[in-house]
Parts: sequence; C-alpha cells; structure tokens
Amino acid sequence: MKVLIVGGVAGGAGAATRLRRQSEDAQIILFEKGEYISYANCGLPYYIGGIIKEKEKLIVTQPELLRSRFRIDVRTKSEVVKIDREKKTVTVQNHADGTVYEESYDKLILSPGAVPKRPNLPGIDSEGIFTLRTVPDTYQIDAYIKEKNAKTAVVVGAGFIGVEMAENLKERGLDVTIVEFLDQAIASLDPEMAAILHRHMRENGIKLLFGTGVQGFEKGDGLKVKLTGDREIPADVVILSIGVAPDSRLAKEAGLELGVGGSIQVDDTFATSDPDIFAVGDAISVRQIVTGDKTLIPLAGPANKQGRLAGDNVLGQRITKDSGVQGSAVLKVFDMTAASTGLNEKQLKAQKVPYQKTYVHPSSHAGYYPGSSQLSMKLLFAPDGKILGAQAVGFDGVEKRIDVLATALRLGGTVYDLEKLELCYAPPYSSAKDPVNMLGFTAANILRGDVKVFHFDEVDSLDREKVTLLDVRTPDEMKMGTLDGAAGIPLDSLRERMSELPKNKPVYAFCQVGLRGYLAARILVQNGYDVYNLSGGYKTYITAK
Ligand code: FAD
Repeated sequence: MKVLIVGGVAGGAGAATRLRRQSEDAQIILFEKGEYISYANCGLPYYIGGIIKEKEKLIVTQPELLRSRFRIDVRTKSEVVKIDREKKTVTVQNHADGTVYEESYDKLILSPGAVPKRPNLPGIDSEGIFTLRTVPDTYQIDAYIKEKNAKTAVVVGAGFIGVEMAENLKERGLDVTIVEFLDQAIASLDPEMAAILHRHMRENGIKLLFGTGVQGFEKGDGLKVKLTGDREIPADVVILSIGVAPDSRLAKEAGLELGVGGSIQVDDTFATSDPDIFAVGDAISVRQIVTGDKTLIPLAGPANKQGRLAGDNVLGQRITKDSGVQGSAVLKVFDMTAASTGLNEKQLKAQKVPYQKTYVHPSSHAGYYPGSSQLSMKLLFAPDGKILGAQAVGFDGVEKRIDVLATALRLGGTVYDLEKLELCYAPPYSSAKDPVNMLGFTAANILRGDVKVFHFDEVDSLDREKVTLLDVRTPDEMKMGTLDGAAGIPLDSLRERMSELPKNKPVYAFCQVGLRGYLAARILVQNGYDVYNLSGGYKTYITAK
C-alpha cells in the first residue's frame, strides 16, 4: 500500500511512524512544505524568551531519523498543492528546485494544521507585525527584535500563545501590552479564575487592555497600534495571536466535506468524506466528549494521538474509533500555572447543559511543610454528579490535579468518585485529603443536600433586607474587607451567639475560602436555620471583582 502524508509535524509525523510500526510493507511518503519536520511548535515562544537557547532544541526529530529508522521517504520544502481524487494523485511543488510533479496514492492522510488569523485591518502588512506558527516565524521575530533593538511590544489576543508570548517578551526585557477584545485572558477559563492570572500578569509588569479592539496599524515614526475608543499605543513589534483557522484549503478544493469553522469533516475513524483520504490535527473538527458536539480544539496532544490512530486505521486491518477530545490544557504565566479540562461554565451555559459548581482554595501540599501555596480550583458537575469540567490556578501542583480530573472526566467519573480517589500523599506533595478529594467532598455535599451554596456572582444581588449575610471569620479578617451589610460572628462563638440571628430569614454564611462557612452552615442547619454557604468564600468573590 502506498500512503502519502501531507504535513510533517504533530499529526503527520505521528501517523507516519505509527503506520511503519504497523506495516513494514507500506510505502510512506511524508510531504512538508517547510524546511523542518517534527518541530516543537509549543516551544517556540520560549526560544524568543531566551529560555530555550539552541536552535536545534526546537527540532524534535530530524528527517534523517525518519528515513533511516522508519524508512519513511521524507520530502521537505515540498508542498502538496492539489489533490486529484479521480486519479488518486497529488501535485507537489518542490520549493527547493522549483519543479512540480505528481505522486499517486492508495491512501492519503492530511495533517496540514491551522493558519494564524490575520485580519484585514488597515496597515496590517506594515513591517514589525508578526504571527507565530513555525520555526522560521520564530527566527524572524527574534531577528527583528535584535535588529531594531525593540523596546515595546503589543500582543494582540490574550489566548495561550498571546500570554506565552507576552511573558517571553517581558522576560526578554520589552515593555509589553496585551490588547484583548474580550474582558478576560485565556477563554478556556471562566472570568473569576482568569482574574487570578490577570493580577499576576500585572504584578509582573504586563499591561492588560481588555474590552479593547485593534482597528489598524499606522507606520510613521515607528509603528502605532490604533485601538477602539480613538486610542493608540506605540509598538516596536506587534504579535498577532487572535486564534487559528483550520487549514482546509486543499481539502476544500478537492471537494471534501467541510465542517465547523471550515474544518475538514471526518468520521470517528478519521476518514474524510472520501474513504481513501484521512485527516487529523488542527485541520479537523472533533467531537467534544462532554456534549458530543463537533468543535475545534487545536491542541498538540489530540493531534498526536489522532495521527497515531489514523496510522492504524488507514491500513484497514484494525479500526480504532476516536473517543473525542476534552480540551485539557495548561499554561505557564511567570511562576503561576493555569490548567483546565472539559467545558467551562460559559460553554455549559451557552450549550444549555444543566450543571452545578464548587470552588475550593486548598494548600498545594501540607501547610506545615515549607513551601506550600494556595491553589484555586473550580469543578463543574451535572446534577447526577458526572464531571463536566475543571479549572485550577496556582503556583504549585496545578497541572497534576487537573490531570487527575481529566482522567476522571475521560472515564465518565462523578464527584462521588473524586471523594474516593486514593492519591499519593506525603507532606511535601499533598495533604491526606488531596485538593481533588476536596472538590469531590464539597460537590458531593451539595448534591447530597448536606449544604446549600450560593456563589460569588449572586452576592451583590442578594436583598440585604430579606437575608442575613453572616461573616464567620475573625474580626481581624473582617477588617481586611467583608461583604456589604454582613454581620460578623466568628465560627468559634457561633454556638453561643446564634440567638443574635433571626430565624425568619435565610442565613447566607461566608468565610475566607468556604470551609468555616460550611461548618457554620452545618451548626445552624441543625439548629433549625435555613442556611447557604458561599462556595469558595470571600476569596472567590473578591478575586472576581
Ligand atoms: P502542525 O503541527 O501545524 O503541522 C502541520 C504541518 O503541515 C506544518 O508544518 C505545515 O507546514 C505543513 N503543511 C501544511 N500544508 C501543507 C501542504 N499543502 N503540503 C505540505 N505540508 C503542508 N498545543 C498544546 O497542546 N500545548 C501547547 O503548549 C501548545 N503551544 C503552542 C505554541 C505555539 C506557538 C503554537 C503555534 C502552537 C501550540 N500548540 C500547543 C498547538 C499545537 O502545536 C498544534 O495543535 C499541533 O501542532 C497541531 O498539529 P498538526 O499536525 O495538526 O499541525
């Protein structure tokens, strides 16, 4: 069997090597239009920041290795410009010598990736405006900053790549402003979780302009970024990171069916509408495992795994079906980490999926062992307890918790499973009740009816006449800030002082992170009060403000 693969990075290289492991007989040709295959897209921002210093570190696998170890015919600088489905051939443009030729196939795998969006704004083609996708993009940005001795940068878009670039440009000594149309960074997080990162970015000297659009660029004495509201800011260099679009040009011209956002439509074996053509990676739409809807989730993990499966399926001997994508993602922001999996609250609302939520702010490891820090975590779950999504932000142990939650979500787990999980514990690493268990306990308490909760976004609209807002923290803590109109009774005197609370109104209790509020709720409920506890406590409320 002769298999041609278009695209030599995450999905393409993965498909090629898997295919070889499954078949010593297959003839495999890998076409890559650029100079490099199997490069570390995800590492590119860190080369610009000087964290990764050697150019060769960005190339994960050299073509020679795929040739010698896997007998894959790797053709770099070779762009597939056309697919002829009738003749089962592709047309290849060799960018090294200018020749054009045809190559026949039995099966074809497409993994052309995505293209960074570049809006058609006035001045967009001015010198100094870059997108980042490839190794050459990286070298160009690096060289430009050096050559122009750039001092100021504007990053347009506060997604993963935008925030990573902002951090790396800052590390390199530039004065950095992020301009973002939405009112938050990292759209996979809900706003109150993203707010923790916003503060950290600002503390590290990044300027954040939210709710701000870019209207164009003006080149005069330096580059000016024209913003909505008649504002403008100067920039020696601009990085556009406003998202990517699936690269489906070849597929479209070949008449293959397209799906969401112009992506290549595939079935659950990664076959396109033509059974001899498969597609994987950023170019396809995937099934979101929580809702089952088709969507775009352009991430390296899924692309690699899809390539591996397509490498199997293309042979037709053993068909492995795709089990969907959940969108687990992690981000370093200076010394903080943010991670998430599954759907967030905005998505659940938009898709009308019934959900409940809980927040916890536990220590990353036992508080008495040096070096622990606070984690902020949010869990979204269905009324039957099924895990729908999770987010965490903090300094230590963030991604290991989200990885556990991602595993539980993938396996169809519930909040009751989280209660039971037996996770590694010794004081330098965790607590005997791991933060993941804490999420399980608090969520299960809600579902079992052990506690009723209210949330940070309901606080301001609570009618102070009709409810008793009760701060159960200490007077010293209350002095640092409390909710408007709150009465104060510290938890440890609540049993003695509870007669101060009218019984004819519900009590809305809160503490710093939610634990003492829960204990107060349990005391009061057992004494005949109708009580709600503020999930995540004052910390979640004030962070979201
Ligand atoms: P790609 O890896 O982009 O490979 C596609 C290749 O196909 C390209 O090299 C392209 O030149 C080639 N090609 C396209 N058309 C043709 C053609 N007609 N002929 C021949 N060759 C062609 N994901 C994460 O999960 N975590 C991260 O931390 C992360 N960080 C990232 C940071 C950056 C700066 C970038 C750009 C991406 C990052 N990603 C990250 C996303 C991740 O890199 C992609 O999801 C993944 O690489 C997609 O794999 P792919 O095979 O679909 O496409």
